[in-house]
Amino acid sequence: MKEQFNITRRERDCVITIYESASPDFPVRLSKIATIMQLKPPTVIEILKRLESKGLINRERGMVVLTNAGKESYNFIINCHRILETLFVDSGIDLEEACREVSAFDYMVDSDSAMKLSTFVGTPKTCPHGKPIIYG
Ligand SMILES: [Zn+2]
Repeated sequence: MKEQFNITRRERDCVITIYESASPDFPVRLSKIATIMQLKPPTVIEILKRLESKGLINRERGMVVLTNAGKESYNFIINCHRILETLFVDSGIDLEEACREVSAFDYMVDSDSAMKLSTFVGTPKTCPHGKPIIYG
């Protein structure tokens, strides 16, 4: 199954920020996203509008929450990120460098390629940071 989300780098960063900044009972606010992403709120509003039209987020009273599709996209991107990071680090690339470089394209990899890459690096259970890689 091909599983790609037609999003831009900024939209990718925004999805990651929303997921990683929210706590279970307190969704993230626009202003917090703007601070973390170091963008002006009007810029973030434009990104959020696009994510909303793609069905990845909902906005409720100033709060921003990922939809199920949004959470799915987060999980998919972060797994690709961790698999690619493993490949880079195994090749001798510094971890922080690997993390930064991989962030530029982890959201463009399709699931078949991600699975092949994962097999190639030995189906790791965690990334070099020690964070879990989940296989659905
Ligand atoms: Zn990373």
